[in-house]
Amino acid sequence: AAETLRSSHKLIELGRLSASIAHEINNPLSSITNLLFLLRQEPGLSPLATGYLDLIESEMDRVISISKQTLSFSRESSTPDHVSLVELVEEVLFLYRHRVEQKHLEVRREYLPVEAVWGNPGELRQVLSNLIVNAIDASRQGGRLQIRIRKAANGRGDSGIRVTVADTGTGIPPEVLRRLGEPFFTTKGQQGTGLGLWVTRAIVERHGGELRLRSRWGGRRHGTVFSLFLPLAAPVGGASSGPMLVSSASKS
Ligand code: ADP
Repeated sequence: AAETLRSSHKLIELGRLSASIAHEINNPLSSITNLLFLLRQEPGLSPLATGYLDLIESEMDRVISISKQTLSFSRESSTPDHVSLVELVEEVLFLYRHRVEQKHLEVRREYLPVEAVWGNPGELRQVLSNLIVNAIDASRQGGRLQIRIRKAANGRGDSGIRVTVADTGTGIPPEVLRRLGEPFFTTKGQQGTGLGLWVTRAIVERHGGELRLRSRWGGRRHGTVFSLFLPLAAPVGGASSGPMLVSSASKS
C-alpha cells in the first residue's frame, strides 16, 4: 500500500510539473501564434514561403495540442465554427489561473445567456487571451478582473455579442495610449512582444467586429475596460471596423 501511495504521489508531482512546464511554454507559443498570423498577411509571399508557413503551422499545432492536452484544453479547429465566447473565456481563465492567484485577483463574471458567434475558434481565443492577459499584467495585488458577456447591438444596429474585460490596474497613460495600435510597442520590456493588440485588432476586423477601450489613470480610481463586439452574422467579405476607438480620462 505504501508503494502505491508513493507512486500516486509521484504521479501528482509529475502532473504538477508538466502543468507548470506547459504554462511556461504557453507564453512563447502565444507570441509565435501572433507572429505567424502577421507573417501570413505579408503581401507577395512566394509559394515556397507559404509552403514553409503551412509546415510551421502544422508543427505548431502539434506543440499547441500537446500543451493544451496537459492543461486539459478542449480541442479546437482552425475552420470557422459556432463559437461559445463563454467557453473561450473560461478556457483562458483556466489557463492563466496561476497568475490570477499569484496576484490575488478577484474575478467577477457576469454572463448573460447569449448565442454562439460564427468565427474562427483559435483566433477568437487568441483575442480573449490577449485582452485577459493584458488585464492581469496591468493589475496590482488584490485587484479586480471583471468579465461581462451579453447581447448587444453596434452603432449600425447589427446584433451581436459584447464582451467587456475590465481591470482595476494601472490604467493607460496618454503617451502609451497614442502608440497602442503600433506593432512591437510594449511597456513590458523582455516580457512583452507588443503584438497582442495589433493582432487582436486584425482578428476582430476580420470577424466584422469592433474593439473599443476606455482607460483611467493617475487618479484614485484607475483601470482599463476593453470592449469587444462580435456580430452574430458572418461578415460579408471581411468587413472592416476601422481604427480602434479610444477614449480616456486622466487624473480623475
Ligand atoms: P504586450 O502585452 O506584449 O506589451 P500588447 O499589444 O498586448 O503587447 O499591449 C501593448 C501595451 O499596451 C502594453 O505593453 C501595455 O503598456 C498596454 N496595455 C494593454 N492592455 C492594457 C491594460 N489592460 N492596462 C494597462 N495597459 C495596457
